[in-house]
Amino acid sequence: MASRPIQILLIAAHPADSFDAAGGTLAHHVAQGDRVAIAIATTGVRSHHWALLEQKRVSGADFDVEARLKQAVEEKLTEVRNACRILGFEDVRDLGFDDDDILVTQDKIEAIADVIREVKPDVLITHHPYESGGFKMHGTIGQCTLYAWQVASGVGRGRQVRHHVPVIFFMNPQAYIGNNSLEYAGTGRADLYIDITDVITQKVQALDSIASQYYAGPYSRKRAESEDGHLGNHASVAYAEQFQRFLPMVRYTLPITDADLERGTEAPEAMMGRRAEMVGGLAPLPPGVGFTSQYRIPQDKYKD
Ligand SMILES: [Zn+2]
Repeated sequence: MASRPIQILLIAAHPADSFDAAGGTLAHHVAQGDRVAIAIATTGVRSHHWALLEQKRVSGADFDVEARLKQAVEEKLTEVRNACRILGFEDVRDLGFDDDDILVTQDKIEAIADVIREVKPDVLITHHPYESGGFKMHGTIGQCTLYAWQVASGVGRGRQVRHHVPVIFFMNPQAYIGNNSLEYAGTGRADLYIDITDVITQKVQALDSIASQYYAGPYSRKRAESEDGHLGNHASVAYAEQFQRFLPMVRYTLPITDADLERGTEAPEAMMGRRAEMVGGLAPLPPGVGFTSQYRIPQDKYKD
């Protein structure tokens, strides 16, 4: 642990990404006195405001998305700010990229580099640059952030401030492996798990805020169970988040904790009991709301 509070900056492609991939980890850092800022590349209104997308599908040419855009952006940002507040921080920056403007460009790199110069993070968190083979906004933002890291480290054109970030993590590096054949290039690997069991309720509440993507209620709990619970299972805890370091770790001795040592002697019952905690018990649904969905696909619809 560092001898002074650190500043974390997370650069995410979409509004929910920071909470999905790193919400529990951010809550831990806030709780120990570190500062956290997130910068959202896009507000995701063209791809992730599903209520708006559905309105467009139903109304077709009669529905003017552009006229609703400003309000939709505000709705998304309000959701993000609420989620951050639940995790204990307020610093949210909207980079304002359009979410169908998907290429790695110098403009995007410069904009991210400017946020790095401003926030001066000790730790950068972003997407794996080759997520989904790199052909996705997540990959684009991961690549732009690495370029921006280099740009901010140098003496930029007309920029007076330089800032070098010493530590970079890719969040949820293996989440999309298997989604397409290019993912098997093999660079996504998990070399760090953060045990977020003690803050899983906080994370679920943060995800509840992302209502325009229908996260609120049963989905945020299912998501915690199937994603964080799945990663927790890998790490022999109930809930975990997964990271990959960009640069190698440098230490004076081999990194080992008391938790590592205790695993050597603990009873199998303790290990299994720890993994068995369930979010349905930790973050119960509001009264009257159930986990069963009216949108289940009936068997007869699967007939070929
Ligand atoms: Zn995303």
